[in-house]
Amino acid sequence: MNSITYRITGLMFSAIVLTVFILIYLANAQMTGLFQEYLTGQHMGGMSLNHLAIMGQQEEAFLASVHQSLLWVGLIILVVGLGISYLLARSITVPLRNLSRATEQIEQGNFDQKVFVEKDDEIGHLATVFNSMAETLATNNNMRRQLFANIAHELRTPLAIIQGNLEGMVDGVIEPSKEQLSSLHEEAVRLNRLIKDLRDLSLAEVRQLALEKTPTDINQLVTRTMLMLKPMSDAKEISIETALAEGLPEIEVDADRISQVFYNIIVNAVRYSPEQGVVKVTTSLVSEEGKQYLKIAFTDDGLGISAEDLPYIFEHFYRGDKSRDRKSGGSGIGLAIVKQLVEIHGGRVVVTSTLGEGSTFTVLLPVILSECVRKDKG
Ligand code: ADP
Repeated sequence: MNSITYRITGLMFSAIVLTVFILIYLANAQMTGLFQEYLTGQHMGGMSLNHLAIMGQQEEAFLASVHQSLLWVGLIILVVGLGISYLLARSITVPLRNLSRATEQIEQGNFDQKVFVEKDDEIGHLATVFNSMAETLATNNNMRRQLFANIAHELRTPLAIIQGNLEGMVDGVIEPSKEQLSSLHEEAVRLNRLIKDLRDLSLAEVRQLALEKTPTDINQLVTRTMLMLKPMSDAKEISIETALAEGLPEIEVDADRISQVFYNIIVNAVRYSPEQGVVKVTTSLVSEEGKQYLKIAFTDDGLGISAEDLPYIFEHFYRGDKSRDRKSGGSGIGLAIVKQLVEIHGGRVVVTSTLGEGSTFTVLLPVILSECVRKDKG
């Protein structure tokens, strides 16, 4: 387990030992040579060239004491070097060990991990990245748990209604009238739609939703979607007005998916508007950072969205009015689907809203022309 500590300590210590031995050897050799040269110089006056004859007992004792001192210094450097090597190795391996322990915890599903960032070096950077990764994993895990709880809740309610009614009919408590059966059918349809929406949403989130892109006239798509919703808007005497720009290019999109985007936004506009309200749809061609987009804006004069709710309305199952039941509102995933479908087309959706005054949802779709249009233009 401590192998890296020992390896780093061993390597550094070996380097220190080698350096100390070379230094002591060279210092000793140099010392003896230089000292003898010095003595020779001193005795040149007496014309004696015999080195050994020059070295007296005192000089030899001096040299021996210098050699010994050098040995002591070498020994002290080795001991201090060993200590420093060990501390240095530990300063690398201790944070690594903490990181590895925290990673093991994450592997076991305990996402709530945080390691202490000691220094602003490479290991400190690794620890910072690890902490933010652990935080993201913990958030995703909570969101996943919340999502499953919401899905279970949303599926349970219609199923319980269907089950209860069918049991009542089997026991003869409920008369299997046409209304009863059509209400059960409605619940089954709602359940089916929710499951389909969830499937699309999960595929879109991992960018696995297959798109069948064809050159599409966005104005036509808006008009078609509005017609689909006419019975709903008529029921509330809401008028849907349009201001569609002329001469817009046909863009490459999956018409059914984009129609679903428009449908979900207009359904909400009608749902959250009072009777006799007005919903306005405008289309235009805009340019942003050198790229062209088709801008489709949906404005209503309905309830509006509070500033606290606004950042969350594109999240799964987020409902502005928590007390609202499923029948007066949708499943709470309509806008989550809108966001994903627009994003997988390379676009984006933004919302501005004032509580009590109304909201505007703006969809921006990149102008991607079909091959034949591009060739014609070329
Ligand atoms: P829901 O099925 O609840 O409508 P959505 O995902 O479609 O779910 O919308 C999320 C929430 O956003 C809604 O519950 C509502 O509070 C708010 N909302 C969406 N569109 C509008 C709108 N046009 N006016 C006011 N509130 C809106």
